Amino acid sequence: MSDLEQQDLKNKKVIVRVDLNVPLDDDDNVTDTTRIVACKETVDLILEKGGICILISHLGRPKGKENKFSLKKIIDTVSSVLGRKVFFYEDCIGQGAQEAISKLDKGSIILLENLRFYEEETSGDRVFAKNLSKLGDIYVNDAFGSCHREHASTFVIAEYFENKKFPGMLLKKELDAINQIANYGKKPVLAILGGAKVSSKLGILYNLIKNVDKIIIGGGMAYTFIKAKRGKIGNSLLENELITNAQEILSLAQALDKKIILPIDTIASKDYDNNDQILTFNSKEIEDGWIGLDIGKKSIEMFNQEILSSNTIFWNGPMGVYEKDLFSEGTRSICNSLREAKEKGANVIVGGGDSIAALKKLGKEDWVGYISTGGGALLESLEGKILPGVKALMK
Ligand code: AMP
Repeated sequence: MSDLEQQDLKNKKVIVRVDLNVPLDDDDNVTDTTRIVACKETVDLILEKGGICILISHLGRPKGKENKFSLKKIIDTVSSVLGRKVFFYEDCIGQGAQEAISKLDKGSIILLENLRFYEEETSGDRVFAKNLSKLGDIYVNDAFGSCHREHASTFVIAEYFENKKFPGMLLKKELDAINQIANYGKKPVLAILGGAKVSSKLGILYNLIKNVDKIIIGGGMAYTFIKAKRGKIGNSLLENELITNAQEILSLAQALDKKIILPIDTIASKDYDNNDQILTFNSKEIEDGWIGLDIGKKSIEMFNQEILSSNTIFWNGPMGVYEKDLFSEGTRSICNSLREAKEKGANVIVGGGDSIAALKKLGKEDWVGYISTGGGALLESLEGKILPGVKALMK
């Protein structure tokens, strides 16, 4: 892929597909600006090089032109985060949009209306994509979180920009982080996977086991693996139909001389909601009627040692039901160990909605080496797939 930083952008109209799908409260205030902040580097680069920045994005899942999902609502926040005036136009294609753009001087930014006001966006319609392409001279994709979709603005549009299409700075950082985990990160490379379900992370496990040196499996998903090793897991979360897969992954790890590290002790309760009684069990000997809801002290210590002896670490998914204080200690400890590892020079990459939410809830996020903005896009990349939006930039 060619490099946007090497391009002459002076007076060039640069279409930038960004992901401004930000959360709004009932009064239309933006409650988290992460995605706006994430596109600033690309915008700054284009403007410094004397280009005109045409931002296109989706917001929510509108059915046709629904005012509720207008990007106009976020224009002030976008301006304030980018630290510059941002113009707005009420459509994302057509003569009106083209005229609004043609009036802009170099160094200007314009945000166009929600792409998903046209169902042709999500259906990947070629005519719509071609109309979008008429807005500018150069196409930049900086919407990593949407790159797994074959939509008009993330995929089809690229074919109209032969030799004039580039990944944005955010997309480059995301791809580099994925490569650090799955390809060329400094060894030992450790992946820590947690959360509720094995099913959502099966593809990642099969792919990462080939590339990383060790995988810690915590959270609810650990119990299917413990069961696969003939452990007694009481009433803990179990995906029975995946026991065979779990066994296969464990055998694969053994054959490849990779380590899979499971919790050795478990904090359990008799009920998800009523937590009057809490006991610690050996993770392989949980009594019937008890549900494992967090990792115990011995596991924390063991995971801590694995983290501190790794140079590249990827974390996705909590170690327990971290939303409840009673079961948040495992996840909190992982955060602390990761921070210590980072201070000692390890590259720490965090991705996936719940790990970021956990980091924020536990008040520790500013130190992380890289926090991915992608949900599905990150998971699919870690499964070893080249995302459509990325492939389209390569052709
Ligand atoms: P995921 O979306 O798969 O990353 O899962 C995140 C969810 O997993 C969080 O809501 C946690 O409460 C939940 N979780 C983590 N550990 C457990 C556990 N031992 N039992 C049940 N749910 C868990």
